Amino acid sequence: MAGNEADGKPGGATDRAEEFMRQALRLARVALKRDEVLVGSIVVYRGRVVGEGIEGVQDEKDLTAHAEIKAIKEACHSLDTFCLRGCELYTTVEPCFMCSFVIRSAGISRVVIGKAVSYIGGVSSRHPIPVDSGIPDWPRPPVIVSGVLEKECKEPFAR
Ligand SMILES: [Zn+2]
Repeated sequence: MAGNEADGKPGGATDRAEEFMRQALRLARVALKRDEVLVGSIVVYRGRVVGEGIEGVQDEKDLTAHAEIKAIKEACHSLDTFCLRGCELYTTVEPCFMCSFVIRSAGISRVVIGKAVSYIGGVSSRHPIPVDSGIPDWPRPPVIVSGVLEKECKEPFAR
């Protein structure tokens, strides 16, 4: 499908943020049952979920199997493009540096976070990759919304 027009607008209404975060939470709970780091992510384009990711590092023996990466990969396949401008990423935990690089490279327009992680989070740490506007030739920074369903996103994450 070549329908991912670069309109730059986030693909879902702000008022649906909690609804989409609950979907990400459901995926995080699947990760919990698998003894993974407890992260779930979805990518939304024009109000439709086009990618889902469940943390899978342990299960897949793959350090890159973060929920965000998996959701982004699935979204790229769904939309048949690596440009995710106009898409939103919902993730229960703040994306790490690796995921932040991919989020920026894909040009995702909005990132909605449940629980912030200041020590390794790509947004709130000393290395705010998603919001750094000084990197040449990168898509513009996404809008960041943090703390959506924060309490629910924190509860199962005691590790
Ligand atoms: Zn990550």
